[in-house]
Parts: sequence; C-alpha cells; structure tokens
Amino acid sequence: MQRMVLASRPTGMPQDENFRLETDDLPEIGPNEVLVRTHYMSLDPYMRGRMDDAKSYAAPVPIGGTMEGGAVGEVIASNHPKFASGDFVFGMFGWATHGVAKGQDIQKLDAALAPITTALGVLGMPGFTGWFGLMEYGKPKAGETLVVAAANGPVGSMVGQLAKLHGLRVVGIAGGAEKCKTATETYGFDACIDHRAHETARDLRHALKEVCPDGIDIYFENVGGKVLDAVLPMMNPHGRIPLCGMIAWYNAGGLGADAAMEALTGPRLWRTILVNFLSVNGFIISNHFDRYGDFLREVAPQLAAGKIAYTEDIAEGLENAPAAFRALLSGGNKGKQIVKLI
Ligand code: NDP
Repeated sequence: MQRMVLASRPTGMPQDENFRLETDDLPEIGPNEVLVRTHYMSLDPYMRGRMDDAKSYAAPVPIGGTMEGGAVGEVIASNHPKFASGDFVFGMFGWATHGVAKGQDIQKLDAALAPITTALGVLGMPGFTGWFGLMEYGKPKAGETLVVAAANGPVGSMVGQLAKLHGLRVVGIAGGAEKCKTATETYGFDACIDHRAHETARDLRHALKEVCPDGIDIYFENVGGKVLDAVLPMMNPHGRIPLCGMIAWYNAGGLGADAAMEALTGPRLWRTILVNFLSVNGFIISNHFDRYGDFLREVAPQLAAGKIAYTEDIAEGLENAPAAFRALLSGGNKGKQIVKLI
C-alpha cells in the first residue's frame, strides 16, 4: 500500500517537500475491523491546519504520520459482522491507498442511491456543513439577502442553493469570471462578484452594494480576509454570521500572525457586531454529527430531484495529492476537490 505522510511542517503554502510518499505492507485487521481499498479521497481546507503544530480543536498530524482525511472505498477484508468484502464505505482512511477502521467508525454507502464520491462532498461533511451552518445559525427567512464566498465549493454551493430554495436573494463571491458564471448558471445564485477583480475591500464593497441594495442579512463566513472586511459594514441590524471558515488566513501561520491582525482590527469588528446586534456563531461540524441523518433526509431527495447541483474536481493519483491540495487552497479547484486512487 501507499500513503502520503507529513514530512515537515510548512511555512505558508505547503510545498512538495512537506510531503513524502511511502510504501508499506498491507495492514492486518483486528477484531471488528475492516480493510478498505480506497477509491477516492477527499481534500479539504481543514487539512492545512492539521499540518501546523498549533493549538486547535484537533491535534496536528505528527511528523511522519499519514495525512488525515475522509475517503471512500471497497471493503476487501472484514472481521465485522455488518461489513462484507465488496461493500462500499466512507471512513477516515487518510491520504492512502488502503485503510483499516473499526466497523463503528465507518458508514456503508449505497452506490445505487448516489455516486460514492458524493459522500465526500455534496452529501458528505462539506454539504452537511453548509446545511447545518445555514439552518442552525443563519436562520434564513424568505426575502432576506445572503452572501457567501467560496461560492463554487461544496460548502458555499450548498449554502447558496439551500438559501435560494428558502426564498432568499443569494449573492456569491468567487475567484474569477468563470466561477462567477458557474455560481449563477449552475447553482442559481442571483449574482456573483469576482473577488479577484476587486483589489481592495473597499472596491469589493462597492461592487457588493450594487447587487445587495437592501444590505446583507446573512453572511455565511468561509474565507475571512478582504471579503470579511468588505461585507461587515453592510450587515443589517440583527444579521447573522455563521462562522464556518477563514481560508484566506490558513497559510498565514495562525490567526495571531501579523497578516491576520493587519487585515482586521478587533475594535472595529466588535463595534459592528454591537451596533448592528449581530449574531456570530462559530462551529466545527464534527461536533454536530447527531444531525447528519436530518441533513440526509432533507437534502438527498433534493439532490435526487435535481434541485441541488454539485461539481467535483477529480485529480488522479496519490502522488498528485499535494499539488491538488495547493490548488484547493489557492482557488484552483472547480468544485469539490477529490483525488482518484484506483
Ligand atoms: P472550497 O472547495 O470552496 O475551496 C476553498 C475555496 O476558497 C477556493 O476554491 C477559493 O475559491 C476560496 N479561497 C481561497 N483563498 C481565498 C481568499 N484569500 N479569499 C477568498 N476566497 C478564497 O472549500 P470548502 O467548500 O470545502 O470549504 C469552504 C470553507 O468552509 C473553508 O474555509 C473551510 O475551512 C470551511 N469548512 C469549515 C467546516 C467547519 O466545521 N467549520 C467544515 C468544512 C469546511 P475562489 O476561487 O472562489 O476564491
């Protein structure tokens, strides 16, 4: 089997030398465990945080450890009564061609219901994140205006489409004209602003004002940085900000780093929250999987009915995972970033 390990901790954008491809014997399985040949693995922005040795909600990947991550694949050996060879499953198998997991830690997939890759994106953790953050903390109401950046990704596209289904005006922010076209044409956003075409937060805010004439009621926060600065002063009283991610700062060396501090000053942020009575709710989706069944019951039928669209960007081969990961962090991905392993 092959696995991609963390060779050293990156400074800024991860480079090839921060990763190492290793070859090992196939692992043995113990009681109640299964061995899985992974077919597709997920690349997600949170993996950048795992590469840093910084205090966070989850422990870092140790040097020499396999890069963490979700994957889908086929059971090829099982010591668990609920799983047999040939079953397709999702589990946290990491960046590797094979993985071992306890039966209780994996989920069986029905390839007849939806392609197995959807368990990594639209029907998996990212789609669930968009649904949970929007419904729990965004509290969407028809007629309101929602803004979400990284609008083409699995989180942003889910947020935008659900908000449209709830009758909101939905404005996306994405990198490049092509992504903006996808946001409006494929995902049905009312408008989309290209953040790369607006160098400063002020320029971006002017562009947003044209497409959000009634201000912003919900800002689903995926990116931080310039977008946050542009959006905050436009929030309406009693607005809501589900705080999901801040990818603009993931390579900045931690949120205490100068880049983040310069981008936004605390006092200004606090004042805006106070005078507009804003609700800001940070959340980490792994704490909310008790709601995953509710999400599937609501969204899987909408997907099957063609009311929710999704896009997958599939790179080939474990050896190409680091490059695909860099693309994800810098906006090179077009939709949910996946790596095909077989
Ligand atoms: P995406 O597939 O959307 O990929 C990330 C996108 O971020 C890029 O394609 C790029 O899109 C955008 N981006 C990168 N840098 C910047 C920047 N400086 N300014 C603006 N946009 C930028 O990712 P996901 O949908 O998987 O995740 C979206 C967010 O949700 C991330 O912040 C992630 O960490 C967070 N998240 C949080 C979870 C939680 O539990 N709280 C769980 C899952 C995800 P573009 O080219 O359009 O700019």
